[in-house]
Amino acid sequence: MSAHSSPDTARHSDQTYSAFQQTVSECLIRHRSILDVLSKFQEASARVNRAVAKAVTTCGCIQVDASKPQIPADISYWEIKQHMATHVKGEMCEHCVEVLEQEIGRTLFYLAGLCDVFGLDLDRLVEDERKRIATLGVFNLT
Ligand SMILES: [Zn+2]
Repeated sequence: MSAHSSPDTARHSDQTYSAFQQTVSECLIRHRSILDVLSKFQEASARVNRAVAKAVTTCGCIQVDASKPQIPADISYWEIKQHMATHVKGEMCEHCVEVLEQEIGRTLFYLAGLCDVFGLDLDRLVEDERKRIATLGVFNLT
C-alpha cells in the first residue's frame, strides 16, 4: 500500500469530506462552470425528491400519510417531538433505498463541486456546522 493518502485510503478517516472533495475536484472536468455546478446541484437535489416520490407512487413500498400535528397546549417544548411525525408509513425497499442513496451521493458530488469552485473546505464547513448546531441545540431549526 502506498504511503500517500489517496481518496480510497482516506475514506474512513476523520477527513472524509476533504478526500471526497479532492476526488470530486479531479472528476469535475466537463461541468466545471459555476452555472453547470449550480444547475447540476439543483437537478441532483430534485432527483432526491423524485426518488422519494417514486418510492411512493411507482414502487409503493412507502406511503405518505400527512396531517396537521395535534400538539397539546400544556406540554413543554421538549415534549413536542413526541407529537411530530415524519408522515412516512412503511419501510423503503432495498431498491428504493439504493436509488435514494445514489441521488443523495450525486447531490453531495455537486455540493463538493460548488465548494471547490469557490475554494471552500467542505470538511471544515461540515465541522463548523456540527459545532453550530451542537451549540444551538434544539433551538437551531425553530
Ligand atoms: Zn420501493
